[in-house]
Amino acid sequence: MLKQVIEFLRRAFGGAPMFLPSSSNLELPKGDVGEKTKALQQKLKRLGYSVSGGTDGLLGDYTMGSVQEFLEDQDLTDDMVERDVGVSDRTLKALDQAIKEARLPEDLPLKVGDDGDRVVELQQKLIALGFDLPRFGADGELGEETIQAVLAFQFANGIKDENAEIDRGVGDDTLEAILEASLPDPVEKPLAFPRLERFPGLPLPSNLVIVKDDHELKKGSGHRKLKDIKGVVLHQTATVLGENPKRWHGVACHIGITREGKIIWINDFDKIVWHGDGFNRGTIGIEIDGHFAGLESFNEETGKWVPDLSTYWRPKGSNRQPLSITDVQVEAVKQVVRWIHRVIKEGGGKLEFLLAHRQSSGSRRSDPGQKPWRLIALPLMEELNLTDGGPDYFILDRHGKPGYPVSEEWDPRHKGVSYRKLPRQIKGRKKRGP
Ligand SMILES: [Zn+2]
Repeated sequence: MLKQVIEFLRRAFGGAPMFLPSSSNLELPKGDVGEKTKALQQKLKRLGYSVSGGTDGLLGDYTMGSVQEFLEDQDLTDDMVERDVGVSDRTLKALDQAIKEARLPEDLPLKVGDDGDRVVELQQKLIALGFDLPRFGADGELGEETIQAVLAFQFANGIKDENAEIDRGVGDDTLEAILEASLPDPVEKPLAFPRLERFPGLPLPSNLVIVKDDHELKKGSGHRKLKDIKGVVLHQTATVLGENPKRWHGVACHIGITREGKIIWINDFDKIVWHGDGFNRGTIGIEIDGHFAGLESFNEETGKWVPDLSTYWRPKGSNRQPLSITDVQVEAVKQVVRWIHRVIKEGGGKLEFLLAHRQSSGSRRSDPGQKPWRLIALPLMEELNLTDGGPDYFILDRHGKPGYPVSEEWDPRHKGVSYRKLPRQIKGRKKRGP
């Protein structure tokens, strides 16, 4: 019917441009949180529009502003954007078209599949920095192994550049950062731990191997007293940093736990480190090395843990499979939390909380994962009388997005709390944890 009306009007007015009612559908309502909005943000970024809030998956004012900018540049209008209610399907299509036309991969300094001296240079530098390429070494081909090392470097240095994430290549910023990174000191100096000198009788965890970084405050913001520490936050690295302690240099957490159960002490406990959004100030962050599914359940019959692939994040275009936390990692984390519990007590405080990063971040739903939570957090909460804040405990992240409470799948006591659903009541919710 509409087509016939348009045809009639066209004939009547001789094909002159005319105003037509919008025939587009609202695809993403403002305030939407999820993968679709995240994809929209990544596309905007790829086209060179700033997404000030980051690609956090929330359709808020910043993202709407960037969409508006894109539409203006393309000479397009979208009345849903104009009325500030959301983004239409037509705009999303226009965005896809623009990306196709931009032929962006050509602009990248190094693309997946490239070979030659520049790739060798990148690979040699990665290896020198401790980001090993165990299978292929500096073979001059930019493949999956090199991309994984680049991702690990980005993670360790807090660099956001999605080219490696979507398996496309290495962007200018990342390449520059890698080539200009200074090499770690070849002589490993014994490091001093001012905190521990205060507690000479306190035993260290048995497999504590190395400590780095205590002199720099690069990934932190000031100090606190030991007695002001109230909790521990568990994380998964969502990549593999590996066994080489050099790779952990600069990682924003206090302790890293390698796949083989090594305990890497990166920052002293009294340093405030940016590891867990609003939990930073009052907590210690532990990163468990590996990429795990958010849901991973135990099959009684086979005796195996089975990941739910729909809760597993992988870089686009990659077919990497989820890992599972190792037994030695489970034991190492438990040992570390017991140790922290004692250190805080010696410092005149009391450890009360054992938290998941998902509780303070709207984009880290699977962090640290069901299996780590079941095997580490549940027994430790009982043993040390700690709490995760309960079935409705979460805070807002820095974009105002709600974190996710610990769900029933992770803790059977949290009846009716779904892993996937965002919590409903966010009014009056705080942005800062214990
Ligand atoms: Zn985390």
